[in-house]
Amino acid sequence: MSTAIQHRMDAGPIAMSSERSPDPVPSPAPAPARASKLVPHRLTSWGRVKHVSTARITPAFSDQLPRIIDARAADRLLAIGLGRSYGDSGLNSAGAVLDMTALDRIVAFDPSTGVIRAEAGLSLSELLRIVVPHGWFLPTTPGTRFVTLGGAVANDVHGKNHHAAGTFGASVRRLGLHRSDIGALELSPAKNTELYRATVAGLGLTGLIAWVELQLVRVPGSYVGAQNVAFGGYAEFAAIARDSATTFEHTVAWIDCTTGLDGKSTRGLFSRGNWLPDGLYKAHDDRTSASLPIELPGFAINALTLRAFNKLYYTAGAMKRAPTRVHYAPFFYPLDAVRNWNRAYGSAGFYQYQCVVPPAAADTAIPEMLGEIARSGQGSCLAVLKTFGEKPSPGMLSFPFEGVTLALDFPNRKARTHLLFERLDAIVSEAKGRLYPAKDGRMPASLFRAGYPELARFTTLVDPCFQSDFWRRMTQ
Ligand SMILES: Cc1cc2nc3c(=O)[nH]c(=O)nc-3n(C[C@H](O)[C@H](O)[C@H](O)COP(=O)(O)OP(=O)(O)OC[C@H]3O[C@@H](n4cnc5c(N)ncnc54)[C@H](O)[C@@H]3O)c2cc1C
Repeated sequence: MSTAIQHRMDAGPIAMSSERSPDPVPSPAPAPARASKLVPHRLTSWGRVKHVSTARITPAFSDQLPRIIDARAADRLLAIGLGRSYGDSGLNSAGAVLDMTALDRIVAFDPSTGVIRAEAGLSLSELLRIVVPHGWFLPTTPGTRFVTLGGAVANDVHGKNHHAAGTFGASVRRLGLHRSDIGALELSPAKNTELYRATVAGLGLTGLIAWVELQLVRVPGSYVGAQNVAFGGYAEFAAIARDSATTFEHTVAWIDCTTGLDGKSTRGLFSRGNWLPDGLYKAHDDRTSASLPIELPGFAINALTLRAFNKLYYTAGAMKRAPTRVHYAPFFYPLDAVRNWNRAYGSAGFYQYQCVVPPAAADTAIPEMLGEIARSGQGSCLAVLKTFGEKPSPGMLSFPFEGVTLALDFPNRKARTHLLFERLDAIVSEAKGRLYPAKDGRMPASLFRAGYPELARFTTLVDPCFQSDFWRRMTQ
């Protein structure tokens, strides 16, 4: 059991109430002095390309936050969650990080309305374990449950139901933010609206999110009826996506990035599903996760092993046509079955490249990118395509907009990989698309500026004492 989870359980019973306190429950004991102590710390990005030395503070109670921010503002702070961002948006090598994972208490949960307020360090995994037995689920969820509420808000994350539900921020009712210049504030779509729009997808730069209040969604059970549909090229993917958009709540496609040198005949499996109305509410169990015992050598994933794996995966998936009944954990979080799968790429680590391009450009841009990737012989078995719906994202720097998103992992082959990224960047730029900061560790600042038209406004709302390696890279 993680320290964070243990800590929350030690904190006592969940407050279940429809009454909302203005701030998280005051701590019962005086705050220990060590909580604001800076401890030297080594941080590694999820992609394991970046390793930085920094200092860490781990607050244990939310009432310590103002004091810590006051005392440490000169150190240049960044709040961090569970470190599931692939690149440098969760790193702060020139300052200190505030590790939020011990602040993981539920403040209030009303099982009759599905409104939940919790401290920002609570993981989606723990939240689900509490709310699923009451018939509630997250309105949208990323492909891992080991993400904190603060991290989910700060990247305005999206999931397989984006075409139906939009982003995570769409269901945030209120937020508690601590800033070094203004102090504690409550933000919502109707209150302190500009700062709310900057903080959702604000990459941790507008201050520290202390708590989050969410509207959960009712689900008819905890199992999903899922099916795979094999497709033989981008045009087929687009047609299946169109057909599925109104009939399936959850859609995503896996692609075999070693196929389709012309970019048009990339094969893949379109996976789609709906909640099954069986009234069975079984929460997942994190104790069943396996762990990769060693870091695999870099050559373990090469063009040959990749082709072989993808062929096997495609063939097995294409044969399995009948709908299956699957628990939400393997359906939404297949990678969580192995805790540190990110070690599979060896010591050089890996990058993820995730872009979105608008609908009008997608039919040209996505096949062009797929062709570039297939011809490069790079890429990995983790490659997905998904259509985003038209629901506007609430954040100034939210990544999703209506269109098609492509996300792929690439083992870090240094100059070779960077050359490929430059070609992909050119296609994204021509298509008027953008890259996702949560996944990025190398995009040029010019592409970031071009992709995010509200960046200038956002910059004026950044907390003067908060910074990250990503932000320094984009602004210096
Ligand atoms: C296997 C896997 C699958 C994924 N699938 C998806 C997906 O489907 N969709 C998607 O959108 N993303 C996806 N992601 C990315 C992930 O959801 C985001 O990177 C998320 O923000 C990580 O949250 P975290 O708690 O680990 O935060 P961290 O990675 O530690 O930090 C992320 C950002 O949040 C900020 N932050 C964290 N806590 C706070 C706080 N309390 N106050 C202010 N700022 C804060 C940090 O400063 C940083 O900028 C995936 C990641 C992995 C590893």
